[in-house]
Amino acid sequence: MNKKYAVSVRPDEHSYEIRDRIEKVLTENGYERDDENPSVVFTVGGDGTFLYAVHQYLDKLENVCFYGLHTGTLGFYTDYRDSDFDEFMDFFLKGKVTETDYPLLEIHTETQSFYALNEVRVENAARTQKMNVYINDRLFETYRGTGMCLATQLGSTAYNRSLGGAVIQEGLDVVEMSEIAGIHHIKFRSLGSPIILKSTARVTWESESFQGALLGVDAEVYPLDDVKRIDICESPVMRVRMLRGRKIRYLDRLQSLF
Ligand code: NAP
Repeated sequence: MNKKYAVSVRPDEHSYEIRDRIEKVLTENGYERDDENPSVVFTVGGDGTFLYAVHQYLDKLENVCFYGLHTGTLGFYTDYRDSDFDEFMDFFLKGKVTETDYPLLEIHTETQSFYALNEVRVENAARTQKMNVYINDRLFETYRGTGMCLATQLGSTAYNRSLGGAVIQEGLDVVEMSEIAGIHHIKFRSLGSPIILKSTARVTWESESFQGALLGVDAEVYPLDDVKRIDICESPVMRVRMLRGRKIRYLDRLQSLF
């Protein structure tokens, strides 16, 4: 790894202060700031800041790894809080961190492609969204409601959890699809509960019209007015490389959040 770094920071005074301390230590150790072509991106803030940084460097993922410090709780993309600053830097400078990579979801509409680390979702606040849901090219159900969400294992604690989806333990190679306010009555019924699928599953959401709906990809949203089909799979190539510091048990991480 060369000594080029960048820092993505949550815009608040405390996070700026931590960023300045990181920069000072890195400069003293011969590192050079390079926002265009860093080999490591430090993230200071929360899981949201980490997501933002990943999207910022999406076209450079092969050459970049991410190392996160949380200025609140523990977080799922970060192993350190601000009170652990010295250990955070020490692990990095002494090469005690280990690199782990995580898959992204790959999303294709007829005209565009997107990548998600937490989840992809379709949400229609304007009218009832009807869509056919295919799993591995086989029609699974016809759904009506506000929308659908497909989350990664890492994203299972984010929007997915608010939808009543299960939290998925680290290390399990699965994705999870959950309804967003599905409509179920005597004439019409879809699965209703979240479904956990192998990460190799290919999911398609198809509709005669997604007019008024938005495609949510992590923190970003895109209009779907001219789209009829959304194909989602785990990307065979795009992965996010994270530097992990001290070992934290998944359940401890979970407890620190809730
Ligand atoms: P954001 O403010 O960056 O994030 C919203 C909250 O979700 C923050 O508290 C954030 O934690 C937390 N979060 C993000 N990824 C997480 C993960 N993998 N596990 C546990 N918590 C996580 O909001 P945004 O920029 O609009 O969207 C970013 C993400 O937020 C989305 O991918 C979505 O999953 C989530 N979100 C959830 C809801 C909901 O639950 N109703 C609504 C909107 C967005 P930090 O405080 O550590 O940053």
